[in-house]
Amino acid sequence: MSEKVCVIYTGGTIGMQKTPHGYAPAPGYLKTALDEISELGRLGMPSFDIVELTPLLDSSNISVPEWNKIAALIGELYDAYDGFVILHGTDTMAYTASALSFMLEGLDKPVILTGSQIPLCELRSDARDNLITSLIIAGDGVVREVALYFGGRLLRGNRATKISADGLVAFKSPNFPPLAEAGITIKYDRRLKAESREREPFAVRALSCVPIGVLKVFPGLQFGLFESVMTEKLSGIVLETFGTGNIPTSDGALLPIIKKAFASGGVVVVCSQCPQGSVSLGAYETSSALKEAGAVSGMDMTTEAAVAKLYYLFSKYDSVEKIKQLMECSLRGELNET
Ligand code: ASP
Repeated sequence: MSEKVCVIYTGGTIGMQKTPHGYAPAPGYLKTALDEISELGRLGMPSFDIVELTPLLDSSNISVPEWNKIAALIGELYDAYDGFVILHGTDTMAYTASALSFMLEGLDKPVILTGSQIPLCELRSDARDNLITSLIIAGDGVVREVALYFGGRLLRGNRATKISADGLVAFKSPNFPPLAEAGITIKYDRRLKAESREREPFAVRALSCVPIGVLKVFPGLQFGLFESVMTEKLSGIVLETFGTGNIPTSDGALLPIIKKAFASGGVVVVCSQCPQGSVSLGAYETSSALKEAGAVSGMDMTTEAAVAKLYYLFSKYDSVEKIKQLMECSLRGELNET
């Protein structure tokens, strides 16, 4: 293989070491550890360079500034490499994958996020397979989008969600089939090979720290308590509703708040608490009023994708109408429009 891959190490369990306060990333350690894995230099592996971000972070501390840093780095190195592997903590990996999928406009190369549940330095670590397979996928060039590889499956980045705090198959893509399954061989979804999508020229869109909130609906939720936050402080709100987009309507509190939020330039996106299936506003009386009040449907988007998309659209457009309209369109395969 003559392909060249750039590994961007952001932190996370994969390169952590034990400290008196629990696992923490150690600068310089990952490169030394990888030098000891002889398989990485074998025939069939792409060559790779490692770029380590400073500071290395537990992914709980990764957000907009770090997404901008990672995206800008990919932008700078885009022409020099055939693909990218981003080593990242698992906790917010699905958010970063979603954000990058929007930020890297016209992406035409593999950008694969991976990490591990057990650090590389531990005996039973899952890091070795996750890293080796991700490198091969990044070198293969079949998947030309942001994807997440973990536990034998390659998932579309903006469809992935973390489903296990301690299992080695820690991610799932409940509303979209895997892009590839890595068993004895790496089997890519046939649609990928047939795909010859027209792409816009590659460009990196930096994000602004837009005020965004996620509100999970539960029985007895007193919407009134959140009124000033929802109408005065937030630009984007993801409402995690019951089932196909239903909310408690008997006290009538939420709808005037949504109308007010919209009137003051906010966008309310309705997602479902169910990992699988789609929001269908208007299917029940308890959701049709949401639509009338001006909320938009997140359809089958994950909360991670909805949050990242709000950051992206508010960073790119001024028109709230345009943002509302694009929230319901598939920009990077993050939702199923039908
Ligand atoms: N807390 C770690 C992180 O997200 C967990 C992991 O990497 O698995 O950085």
